[in-house]
Amino acid sequence: MQQATMTGGDGKTYRPAADWRTQTSRGKKRFTMCKYAHATLGAGNVARAVKLPDNEDEDEWLAMHVVDFYNETSLLYSTIMEKCTDDSCPKMNAGSKFEYLWADSKTKRPQKVSAPKYVDLLMTWIEEQLNDEEVFPTRIDCKFPSNFRQVVTKIMQRLFRVYAHIYHEHFKDILRLNAPAHLNSAFKRFVLFCKEFKLLQPRDTAPLQDLIDKKLLLSKMQEAEKAVKEKATPQYMLSAKMPIAAPSPRGPASAAVESNTTTTAAPARAPKKKPEEKGSMCLMM
Ligand SMILES: [Zn+2]
Repeated sequence: MQQATMTGGDGKTYRPAADWRTQTSRGKKRFTMCKYAHATLGAGNVARAVKLPDNEDEDEWLAMHVVDFYNETSLLYSTIMEKCTDDSCPKMNAGSKFEYLWADSKTKRPQKVSAPKYVDLLMTWIEEQLNDEEVFPTRIDCKFPSNFRQVVTKIMQRLFRVYAHIYHEHFKDILRLNAPAHLNSAFKRFVLFCKEFKLLQPRDTAPLQDLIDKKLLLSKMQEAEKAVKEKATPQYMLSAKMPIAAPSPRGPASAAVESNTTTTAAPARAPKKKPEEKGSMCLMM
C-alpha cells in the first residue's frame, strides 16, 4: 500500500503512487479493503488474500487490486530502473523469445520502443485509466462501465509484462539488491489474483510459465505438508505411548520439486535453498 512518492536507486523521483482518493467514500472503502487484504497477506495466506470477501462487490474488489498492483509493480520497477536504460534494454523483451511492441489509441501501428520507454508509456496509460472517473468511479452515484472487466484485464496483461521483463532481464539486479523474496511474493500474489478472476490467458503468461508452474506446485506442496502436520498433531497428543513422527519436510512432493530444479543454474545449492528461491532459479538459465 504505497502512498508516498517512489524513488529509484539513485534517489530520483520515478512517479507518484496512484491516489487512493480516500476523500471519497468509495476511495475510503477501497483503501480499507486493501488494508484487509494486506493484513491477510501478513498472516501468510496469499490465496485467501486475493479471494473476494463475502458480501463485497467484485468490481470494487478488482478496482482496489488494480490500484494496489499498479503501485506495487511501479515500486518494484523503480528499484531496478537505473539499470534499465535505452542502452541496456533497447527493446521491451522477456528473454529471447518474447518482445512487446507498444500500441494505444494514439499509435497507428505497434511501435518498437526501448524497455524504459515502454514501461513509462504503460504506467502512464494505466494512470490515465485510474484517474478516469468514467472507468474507475469514486463517486457513489457512478457505476462501473460495462467494459470494466476488459479494462482490468488489459491493465493486468500489461503489468505482467513488467514482471516478465524484470525476471528475464534484471533478475541479477534484484539479487544484488537482495530483493528476490520481495519480487517473488509480489509476483505470486499477482498470479494468484489473476488466476482467481481468470484475467490472464496462457499466451499472456507464456514468458514466465515455468516459474508460475513451479511456484504453484510449491504452494500445493506447502499446503499438503501443512495439512499433514495439522492432521498428525492431535494423533500425537492422543497416543503418548506411540508418538507419530513429525512429517518429514522432504517428503515425496519435495523430492519431485527438487528433481525438477536439476536443470536450473544452481542445482547444487538447490536442496539448501528455501522453496521460493528454488522456484526463481529456473529463470536464470
Ligand atoms: Zn530493462
